[in-house]
Formats: sequence, structure tokens, C-alpha cells
Amino acid sequence: MVDLLQDKDRIFTNLYGFQSFSLEAARKRGAWDNTKALIEKGKDAIIEEMKQSGLRGRGGAGFPTGMKWSFMPKPSDKPHYLIINADESEPGTCKDRDILRNEPHKLIEGALLAAFAIGAHQAYIYIRGEFYNEASETNQAIAEAYEAGLLGKNAAGSGWDFDIAVHRGAGAYICGEESALLESLEGNRGMPRNKPPFPAMAGLYASPTTVNNVETIASVPDILRRGGAWFASFGTEKSKGTKLYCISGHVNTPCNVEEAMGLPMKTMIETHGGGVRGGWDNLKAVIPGGSSTPILPAHLCTDVPMDYEGLKAAGSSLGTGGLIVMDKSTDVVRIIARLARFYAHESCGQCTPCREGTGWMMRVMNRLVTGNAELQEIDMLLDVSKEIEGHTICAHGDASAWPIQALMKHFRPEVEARILAYRATLKNAA
Ligand code: SF4
Repeated sequence: MVDLLQDKDRIFTNLYGFQSFSLEAARKRGAWDNTKALIEKGKDAIIEEMKQSGLRGRGGAGFPTGMKWSFMPKPSDKPHYLIINADESEPGTCKDRDILRNEPHKLIEGALLAAFAIGAHQAYIYIRGEFYNEASETNQAIAEAYEAGLLGKNAAGSGWDFDIAVHRGAGAYICGEESALLESLEGNRGMPRNKPPFPAMAGLYASPTTVNNVETIASVPDILRRGGAWFASFGTEKSKGTKLYCISGHVNTPCNVEEAMGLPMKTMIETHGGGVRGGWDNLKAVIPGGSSTPILPAHLCTDVPMDYEGLKAAGSSLGTGGLIVMDKSTDVVRIIARLARFYAHESCGQCTPCREGTGWMMRVMNRLVTGNAELQEIDMLLDVSKEIEGHTICAHGDASAWPIQALMKHFRPEVEARILAYRATLKNAA
């Protein structure tokens, strides 16, 4: 049984921006408190502490952070880079934005600690192009940190030289995929790379690189200060710690909130989202982790733990933790058709199943919204989605296929009824 997180255990204490994001205010909240002492523990101790914490990447993939850092090779003549992925573009997800604008010093301090652990003297924060204010505030915080000697030569008096710069993207969703992000950062078109090699071997400028999400890096200072065991004491056995969740859609009080991993979805929505509009019985479905995660019908939502394992067992995924709540007024076919349009629009186009398939699926989904289709097209659509899934360079292909597969798994009778109703209309008109 996972308990609700108490205020004293929150990492993000200025998530809502009630206080200033300035260095002075951040210091009062505990940021940059003897960072030098954390660095003096040494790289191996920091990585070990991160492994103990059980922190998994908060960008969606959920890969263990400490292990990822340990993949970085030993220092050589090639520079090491830390890249912070702030290209938050997944529909239903808006958590990193709040860190960038309200808690940038947590991110910058975390970047110094992470960079030291992986042997990097340079970090880049790749910010989604539309996040103008967030980039501006992060840049102000970076300038303050340089001014205070927390960045640059002998950063925070640690003996480690560390520079950080913000790079603004141009608004392409695919640049959130780590290798497309690296291409974009190098000045090329944002197209995912074939892997291997993975970034730890050949990342930015073919040098060893670690790419981490904003929330992941911003969690590091508190984990190192309070201890890996402290962080691991929240959540479940395999999904440890706290996480930011974004609750949107048909709830009474949409919000971002930090919670312990593994809280049941109903508790999460009722405690923080003010409950479903019209009551829990008015719930139709939830997309639990950003738009690419499979939709879950209401009967699977009540007790499902909001963690990696619980949502996987339910047939979906934790993803970014962005819950899109839909009440019974929702046209789920139209919702999934809209997502199909999004994925078709954002395909980078370099592999055929995704380039051609996403557009084809979008066109079929658009017809299914009105019912202007044949019943057998449902299976044809599923067949095509399976030809895309797992057959592309990056996970965009999977992300375009899963929402449609889940729609047919849980709401196929609704789709069929719409087709039959459309055909009946035609017959009556004739
Ligand atoms: Fe580009 Fe789609 Fe292929 Fe990813 S799956 S590389 S987005 S075409």
C-alpha cells in the first residue's frame, strides 16, 4: 500500500511558482547547499547513491539513471557531454515546463552533479522551441549561477570546471527522441539515428554523451543530499521514489503534482485532480502516461498503480505520467483520430512504415470518426499498425500504433456501431 506523499518529502517545493525562481529564493529552499561536499564524495560514490535510489528516467523510457551514468566510458581524449532533454512535447505532459520556470536552480545544480559523475565539463539544455518564457527564466538562473561562482571554472568551489548552455529547438516533437535531439543540436535536421551506437559511446559530436530528462536531473541534488535510501523508501519495489504527474482533461482541478510512485489511479485523480467531472462513475477512459500510451477503459482505472509495472500489467504504460482523463461525454474514436493526425504530422519521414503508415492510419481513423468505412477495415487497420510497430528506426512508429491498437482492444464495439449506423443512414437515404 502506497501512502500519499507528505509535503516534507517533496523534492519540488516551488513547482507552482508561488515563490521566486531566483538564486536567493532557491537557496532558501535548500538548493546549492554545500554542493562542493556532494562532489567531494567522488564519481563512484555518486553513481552508487543514484543506483541505490532506484531513480528511473522520468522522460518516459524509465531506464535506471545510475546504471545509465555508469555506461559512460573512462576519460579519454574525447570530451564527455551531458544533455538535458527539455523538449517536452508529449500531449498531456507539462511537468518539465514547471521545473524550468519555477525550479531552474534544482536543474542547474543537478546538472553540475550529474556532469561531474559522468566526467562532463559541458552540458546543454535542449528546450522545446515554444517554451520561450521557460528558456528565458532558465537562462536568467544560469547567469545568476555563473555570477555566484556556481558554474564555470571551479564550479561551486568543487575543483570541477563546468559550463552549461541553453539551446532552443524549433518545435519538432521528434527532437525529444534523444538521437534526433543530438542531430538537431549539431545543426542537422532532427532525425533519429540508427542505434547502436548508443550515445554513451557516440553521442554529441560522436563523443560519449548522457541524455537525461529535466525531472531526472532536477531530482539529483535532493537524492544525493537526503540519500538514495530516502528516495527509495517511497513508491514500490521496482518503481521507487516520487514523480511528477500531470492530471488533465475532464477533472475538476487539473494540475501537476509530485506523488509517490504506485498510488492507485483513482486515489491520484480524486486527491489531486478534484475527481472526475460528474463523479467517478462518469469516467469513460484515461490515457495514463502521455498521448502515446494505450488508453485504458474506466473499469481498468480504479485500482491500477501509477507506476511502471502496474500500468504495464494493465496493458498500458507509465510514460511521462501525463494522465488525460475522459468522461462519458468523450468521443474516443475522435480522440484517437486526433492523435493519429498528430503522429502523422510529427513523423520525420525517414523510414517508410512510419512515413507512409502514420498518414494512412490517420486517413482511416478520420473515416472511422463518421463511420464511413467497412467493418473489415478495422482488422486491416490493426494489421497495418502491427507492420509499423517495431519496424522503425525510433519509437515514433510504436507511439503511433499503440493508441489505435488500444482503441480497438477496448472500444471496438463503439467503432463497429458507428460504421453500422453510417451504413444504415445511407440505406435509408437511398
Ligand atoms: Fe522518423 Fe518515424 Fe522513422 Fe522515427 S519511426 S525515424 S519518426 S520516420
